[in-house]
Amino acid sequence: MPKYIIVTGGVMSGLGKGVVTASICKILQVRGFEVGALKIDPYLNCDAGTMNPFQHGEVFVTDDGFEGDQDLGTYERFLDQNLSFLNNITTGQVYSSVIERERRGEYLGKCVQIIPHITDEIKDRIRKAGKGKELVVIEIGGTVGDIEGQPFLEAVRQMRAEEGKEDCLFVHLTYVPHPPHIGEFKTKPTQHSTKELRSIGIVPNIIIARTSDETPLDEPSREKIALFCDVEKEAIFSLPDLPSTYQVPLFLDEQGLGHLVIEHLSLEPRQPQWTNWKTISNSFIDAHHTVKIAITGKYTGLMDSYISVNEALHHAGAILDTEVDINWVSTELFEKYPEKINNLKNYDGILVPGGFGVRGTEGKILTIKYARENLIPYLGICFGLQLAVVEFARNIVGLDGANSTEIDSNTPYPVIDLLPEQTEITDKGGTMRLGFYPTAIELGTLAYELYGKKLIHERHRHRFEVSPDYHEILEKNGLIFSGRSPDKYLVEIIELPRDEHPFFFGTQFHPEFKSRPGNPSPPYFGFVKSALERKLRKEKILEESIDQRY
Ligand code: GLN
Repeated sequence: MPKYIIVTGGVMSGLGKGVVTASICKILQVRGFEVGALKIDPYLNCDAGTMNPFQHGEVFVTDDGFEGDQDLGTYERFLDQNLSFLNNITTGQVYSSVIERERRGEYLGKCVQIIPHITDEIKDRIRKAGKGKELVVIEIGGTVGDIEGQPFLEAVRQMRAEEGKEDCLFVHLTYVPHPPHIGEFKTKPTQHSTKELRSIGIVPNIIIARTSDETPLDEPSREKIALFCDVEKEAIFSLPDLPSTYQVPLFLDEQGLGHLVIEHLSLEPRQPQWTNWKTISNSFIDAHHTVKIAITGKYTGLMDSYISVNEALHHAGAILDTEVDINWVSTELFEKYPEKINNLKNYDGILVPGGFGVRGTEGKILTIKYARENLIPYLGICFGLQLAVVEFARNIVGLDGANSTEIDSNTPYPVIDLLPEQTEITDKGGTMRLGFYPTAIELGTLAYELYGKKLIHERHRHRFEVSPDYHEILEKNGLIFSGRSPDKYLVEIIELPRDEHPFFFGTQFHPEFKSRPGNPSPPYFGFVKSALERKLRKEKILEESIDQRY
């Protein structure tokens, strides 16, 4: 039977509960415990797949094709573990199964209620996710006090009674602001949210105080929180801004978090093995080089909309001793003011990530054309591959008006079209081509150089594909299909010959989902490396011209 650590959040969202949960997992993992992570999302959606990333953050895809909350990505990256649909519970899933069971007559005679039927279903799902683990860290989404979260808090409260005190530990993450006009930490919001938690019957064992900048929590504030929240002083941890989120586990463990968790859960004390993680997390700070990358996208207002893409770029940069300076560019601007496209020359690399719908696509196609013609390293992910094919078809093959049928259903040249299995589907939730599929890589290509293997498995999330009717004409005109499904039917990777372009690469899959700190995704590594080479080449040319002048 596993032991459970439950992480709740207070005061407000956006404090980094996902990172804290993943960090607690890491603290236990480096001590050799078999640990799992579980995200509970109190929304009514069955999964994150139908939600707008601009409002909710990225939709993370697991190997088994589940469209999960972005925190699953954080857990995977910290734990270097592949998760599945079992690691994300939503209100939608819980209610669907209870209602289905009711329709089947399984509760016959009973009035079906939140307590005990919904809470029982929640506990069953938590226990299922914990199978085979020594410890499970459960993150409850939202903020304590939200109506939606109450059945979940009630379920974990019951679990403490059922499993026993030594088997459940509650961690509460709160916000402790330091308003500049006052000049001191304010603990009142923490006191209130802890009170709120206690009114539900949960007394936190540990409080993690997220401060508002680089200043760690001071002693008087720690004492105040201990006194008012009824938590021992040693169980109050400070979490200020750190240079990299990958430093959070070490930072918390240095304050004694691991020791306290082990003591509280009566686990056998073990020495943590931090060496490897320390090397990895240190690689994210103080880089010698910087590259400027432009990413096009319509969700440019919310960083979390593309968190795995950002992280994959940083993973690649860390290995290359390079800071990746990410800049969001709105391609709608290029549609309105075409001359502004020349601003792109200031970037060392251009990335067009996954996307849906019409808005900004013509601007994206102009961006890809610019990257191709000006030899700027280009990485196209999913939609970014599809639009690169459209650009190539229009401007190299000469198929005027070529397009994806997602954007123009009347295009004379539908070079990107619906996957055959998609044509009859009307439901939107969980119906794309999802999860991992194999790709066979062509020897002698850039793709082979990057992956070093003939067969790879990457994660997908799309409905459209390069239409087989156009494979021949595209290839004849010089586009290389360096990766395909093993039956050759689906194009998975495109590239341009290396004597024509230093790095022009597109993948139908999303390699960012499998990128890990210390082990970056091969396409992202190749892209950042090529951007760095371009930057260094430019600097060298500049130096030489200065030398010549003086
Ligand atoms: N909209 C495209 C499709 O459905 C691309 C999807 C994506 O970029 N994830 O195929």
